[in-house]
Amino acid sequence: MVKESAFNWIEANEKEIVKVSDRAWEYAEVGLQETKTSKLFADWIERQGFKLERGVADMPTAFVATWSNGDGPTIGLMGELDALSGLSQKAVPYKEPVKEGAPGHGCGHNIHGTTALAAAVAMKNAMEEKKIKGTVKMYGCPAEETLVGKVWLVRHNLFNGVDACLSHHPGSSNTAGTGSSNSMNSFKVHFYGRTAHSAGDPENGISALDGVELMSNGVNFMREHIIEKARVHYVTEVGGGQPNVVPAYARVWYYVRAPEREQMEPIYDWVLQIADGADKMARTTHKIEFLTGCYNELPNKALADLIVANMREIGAPTHNEAELKFAKELSKSINPAQKKEGLRKSERPGWEKLVDELFDDRVLDDYRAGKVGAGSTDVSDVSWVTPTNEFSTTTCILGTPGHSWQFTAQGGMSIGHKSLIFATKTMAGAGLDLMTKPKLLKATKAEFKERLAGRKYKPPIPLDLKPPLKQF
Ligand SMILES: [Zn+2]
Repeated sequence: MVKESAFNWIEANEKEIVKVSDRAWEYAEVGLQETKTSKLFADWIERQGFKLERGVADMPTAFVATWSNGDGPTIGLMGELDALSGLSQKAVPYKEPVKEGAPGHGCGHNIHGTTALAAAVAMKNAMEEKKIKGTVKMYGCPAEETLVGKVWLVRHNLFNGVDACLSHHPGSSNTAGTGSSNSMNSFKVHFYGRTAHSAGDPENGISALDGVELMSNGVNFMREHIIEKARVHYVTEVGGGQPNVVPAYARVWYYVRAPEREQMEPIYDWVLQIADGADKMARTTHKIEFLTGCYNELPNKALADLIVANMREIGAPTHNEAELKFAKELSKSINPAQKKEGLRKSERPGWEKLVDELFDDRVLDDYRAGKVGAGSTDVSDVSWVTPTNEFSTTTCILGTPGHSWQFTAQGGMSIGHKSLIFATKTMAGAGLDLMTKPKLLKATKAEFKERLAGRKYKPPIPLDLKPPLKQF
């Protein structure tokens, strides 16, 4: 059986796969600065016989690795690279950074990246052995956390010709779903005024900070009259130097989100008009710096069901005594009320019974159908150009906050390693099913077309916009 050949390769190379993930975990580089991680992944897959295009889509750390065995389907596998600032943590169940204040893999992207990397090679080996025609494309995707990587990869047409795309994200459950996520725009507003002595001659001053504050006040009044599911948040990045100097420059950074892009765009336009209004009130001028934008996720049930079927076929990992001990110790740092609320919010079946459990190691059918998560992901942009699914495997204990030191800790030890191997098998298994079962691929593509319902992906970023290489 073709899948068995892939699973055997994964089992035979388990140590090597874990080593790659652990190395990426140690590197822990933030968005678009994943130089070592990108080289680690790209060099490794190149040694396995893939053809490499490095530094694609104006991003030095992005790459596409391709292997082909002749005419057949093209299956894409996406792997992320970036870590999060300030989340450095040793693989221990109490808070102890490797280096205080340094980045850490608090979202498990070391596992995310390695899953796609190893699954691609497992698929290649099985296809060679069983003489199956087709192409495997593995995408090294930087800067997911800043919603950049895949938006630029799509903008540069790098998913053209891909029949279906799979992605894995570490989480607290084994499942694949048909939920969606919010579309989003991220932009900064630079306000300009004129400096003066705040006490001596304030009449000569134009406060750029007034511009920021009036804009944000306006936006906060706007909230009552936008759709309930929209989210608008901002931080004032620069507000001035000291009180006795009228600030000539101030800056605010905004995210505007809503379930569909066509719902988000009018809110974004309104926010821009409010910035114009702030100028009138404060006598400032301003400039908009558009950073990035992304779509809402277009789900695909055929893909989600296929992934869940593969998970069941493989069997989800369980945890040994040492892992349970680690988990129990770690759970002391998790607020029980927050854990309960998180479980309730997840709406996973039988969540009430999990309140006192450490792990959810069941394999769950899609339970997110029709639901929209408040966050955003650049996986969404890929999902508008080819059928796509991002599935989850249990990498952390229940109640682990997303983007936390607890997440970093688990992603660097055997709980994370088990999740990595399970996800790699799942991805390779589902990828090979798509490669070898034309009816299945056809159904996936038909559903994609149906869900698009004639709508077209309009890139949220202009072609000449360069990715923000130095955001940190
Ligand atoms: Zn993530």
